[in-house]
Amino acid sequence: MGLIVHKYGGTSMGSTERIRSVAQRVAKWARAGHQMVVVPSAMSGETNRLLGLAKELAPASTSMESQRELDAIAATGEQVSVGLLALALQAQGVPAVSYAGWQVPIETDSAYTKARISKIDDARVRRDLADGKVVIITGFQGLDPAGNVTTLGRGGSDTSAVAVAAALKADECLIYTDVDGVYTTDPRIVPEARRLDAVSFEEMLEMASLGSKVLQIRSVEFAGKYRVPLRVLSSFTPWDIPIDEESRSGTLITFEEDEKMEQAVVSGIAFNRDEAKITVMGVPDRPGIAFQILGPVAEANIDVDVIIQNVSHDGRTDFSFTVPRNDYNRALELLRGSVAPAISATQVLGDPRICKVSIIGIGMRSHVGVASKMFRTLSEEGINIQMITTSEIKTSVVIDEKYMELAVRALHRAFGLDQPPSAS
Ligand code: ADP
Ligand code: ASP
Ligand code: MG
Repeated sequence: MGLIVHKYGGTSMGSTERIRSVAQRVAKWARAGHQMVVVPSAMSGETNRLLGLAKELAPASTSMESQRELDAIAATGEQVSVGLLALALQAQGVPAVSYAGWQVPIETDSAYTKARISKIDDARVRRDLADGKVVIITGFQGLDPAGNVTTLGRGGSDTSAVAVAAALKADECLIYTDVDGVYTTDPRIVPEARRLDAVSFEEMLEMASLGSKVLQIRSVEFAGKYRVPLRVLSSFTPWDIPIDEESRSGTLITFEEDEKMEQAVVSGIAFNRDEAKITVMGVPDRPGIAFQILGPVAEANIDVDVIIQNVSHDGRTDFSFTVPRNDYNRALELLRGSVAPAISATQVLGDPRICKVSIIGIGMRSHVGVASKMFRTLSEEGINIQMITTSEIKTSVVIDEKYMELAVRALHRAFGLDQPPSAS
């Protein structure tokens, strides 16, 4: 018998009927003798609804004070979920208790809307588990050193669950969601996408960081750091399927690279529509210029992703980079307002309608020609590549957003991802 953490996402908690089904599944595991900790998300749509209300009242506010209130508001979605799930378990005769993040507490830093977990006190949870209770802890929420409620960024309940599993040294962390595992790409975009039985930790890290929202990236980082056994599986299977069958379903995140994985040159395709491109034109080509452009952007707490600097002509060059789409207007204002005049750049151009498409695979390390196959495939579809970035196990391109689905489908086919691995 083990200590198991279950995480249920928004769709899995989407109605009282769904919550009852979650309670039945958790009760099945508890009755089989496992110590159970459950981390649910807000009911589907709830976090968006709450943030929408906030936006109606303060459309453009980015001050610390308003960020604090945004977190206080957004965190309430998970507060409702834990209470409802505890009630549903109790109604089935299973002792259960719910906690908000601050009650555990789950300690974080003070970076509102994207706080990082620093420490989890497991004393209270362990006492309840020893008393035979199912412990239900809010996803997404934390508490900063000054006692303020924080949230962990969108999709952050995954991270709460893995962090709780790490703190409790759980035997397994099971992430229940609305698809039955991690696929070669988002199955909602490419119906031919295949579920992977296992995916290496490194590949999962890249997939999450490059836009596959099936796991929040920080949850994968936590799993790697603390070696948390992690599995992604469906909450939509009948709740009463045998536990050993359920435990083998979905996708295992593995820390070992087995031979089978090494054969797959490309194992997944990710895409991200949440970025925008900015180009600073006619920049004097001299030492320190990248810092003069990107320094103020970083100070404004705007993350920069893909960066390209062109070769110079007549002592001037163009400098392009991508930023989160949410920060696009702020970044443009900053660059046009103070940065460009200070370095006497000629113009700042922007395009918010781009997307980044990435191919990922640990097999790319030992295979040449993978990137060129990607470029050929895109050119055959008539898709222009605006930016390229590579690492050992991924190649990403920035393209016009309107070609995203076409690009993902074409690449999925070109790399044989719709075929079983033996045939590729
Ligand atoms: P939850 O509410 O359970 O956290 P999310 O919506 O955050 O669920 O994540 C699950 C979704 O991730 C799926 O419905 C799917 O559309 C999307 N997704 C993106 N890339 C992948 C992938 N490679 N494999 C599986 N799902 C993916
Ligand atoms: N409810 C939060 C969100 O919608 C956290 C999560 O679902 O993981 O982003
Ligand atoms: Mg999620």
